[in-house]
Amino acid sequence: MRMAGRDDTGVQWTVTREEMEQMLREAAKRLGARLPRRLQVAVRPLAEAYFRTTARGGELRVVINDALADAPRDVLEALSEVIVARASGAARPRMVGKPFWDHVETEELRERMQANYLARQRSFDPELQGMASDLAGLFDAVNETYFESGLPRPLLGWTRRPITYRWGWYSSMVRPHGLIVINCLLDDPKVPRFVLEGTMYHEMLHMQVDPVVVNGRRVVHTRQFRTLERRFDRHEDLRPQYRKVLRRYGREVDAVRRTRGRRGRR
Ligand SMILES: [Zn+2]
Repeated sequence: MRMAGRDDTGVQWTVTREEMEQMLREAAKRLGARLPRRLQVAVRPLAEAYFRTTARGGELRVVINDALADAPRDVLEALSEVIVARASGAARPRMVGKPFWDHVETEELRERMQANYLARQRSFDPELQGMASDLAGLFDAVNETYFESGLPRPLLGWTRRPITYRWGWYSSMVRPHGLIVINCLLDDPKVPRFVLEGTMYHEMLHMQVDPVVVNGRRVVHTRQFRTLERRFDRHEDLRPQYRKVLRRYGREVDAVRRTRGRRGRR
């Protein structure tokens, strides 16, 4: 039997698991949302998300980031609304639970989230020198050409593995100057230099153009952003190059599969 108010990870909760489940039910009532009959709440050392929800077979599983477990009761009540809004679609998560959104903007929580993220994340390697390209040199060159060297250098890194759904990302979570990660699929001598520059330029624009909240949704690629994006010299040439990189990667993956398949049949 677990001690009340303490998760199996040893994290101290402000409220017991039962109280948290009750808070979720009450939040659902306030928002006019229906929740599954069974609720399962746990606190886990998540890297980045404030929480995760999974619904299956009449059960809603809620996993909350351990950085939030000792938050004040009113913040957890507000978090319950955000969770219910996300899980049920009854409201836009950003439109509810203001005390929660205020709490995650506090210095203390931001610092805690950042430390946890850097210690737990497995998605990128903060090593500047890749196989073919150096991120510091790339950042500095784009900074000089497009930003009059006005942007401070953020934390930079390559993805640990090739990914096929984005070419890079920016996060303001890592302080003081944010984080830019570039897909290691582009760290290849076959990829033209301007493709790396264009990718870096896009992510650097995120340092400059603030996101806006429209109807409770956070928009990062605003109209202003898209306009500035086209200032990149060879903006129109980027897409065809990205497709080329993906095709080449696809062929490599197929080749590996074929080799494995042959070995498997022997
Ligand atoms: Zn973007």
